[in-house]
Amino acid sequence: MKDPDCVFCKIVAGEIPSAKLYEDEDVLAFLDINPVNKGHTLIIPKVHSENYLEMDEKVTEKCSKIIRKIAKSIMDGIRCDGFNITMNNYPAAGQVVMHSHFHVIPRFEGDGLKHWPQGKYSDDEDMEDSRKSIEERMDLLK
Ligand code: AMP
Ligand code: ZN
Repeated sequence: MKDPDCVFCKIVAGEIPSAKLYEDEDVLAFLDINPVNKGHTLIIPKVHSENYLEMDEKVTEKCSKIIRKIAKSIMDGIRCDGFNITMNNYPAAGQVVMHSHFHVIPRFEGDGLKHWPQGKYSDDEDMEDSRKSIEERMDLLK
């Protein structure tokens, strides 16, 4: 449940203020305090989990519905040209706050943000190796 050192658990508990956009018994959405663009919103499960893989499946589905609602409202309310839905999982992927959260980031034509650089497989076999290693694990999860 609540992690005493977790900033988002503190927001859920009302111990730290937040610019709240949505709340129900499982999910909370509020503005990111350091927005990439104005309106940048975070959607979090109320019960502490560190990342996507630890999240309760039902709550994940619920988050997905709220993300959609927030994204539509951001498009209209912030009058942006697009949006990114993203989630950083584990520090290697840029996660800083270790309480699961989705970002909805409003985007504007020419806002200057760059996408991550794209790489290349060295050949078809290299690509097939990656495909197979993932597919094998998917079979184990069936
Ligand atoms: P991440 O790198 O995915 O872990 O992102 C964490 C996000 O949480 C950052 O974009 C921060 O600006 C945001 N953040 C940290 N503390 C707060 C807070 N008290 N209220 C709102 N957003 C926060
Ligand atoms: Zn937490």
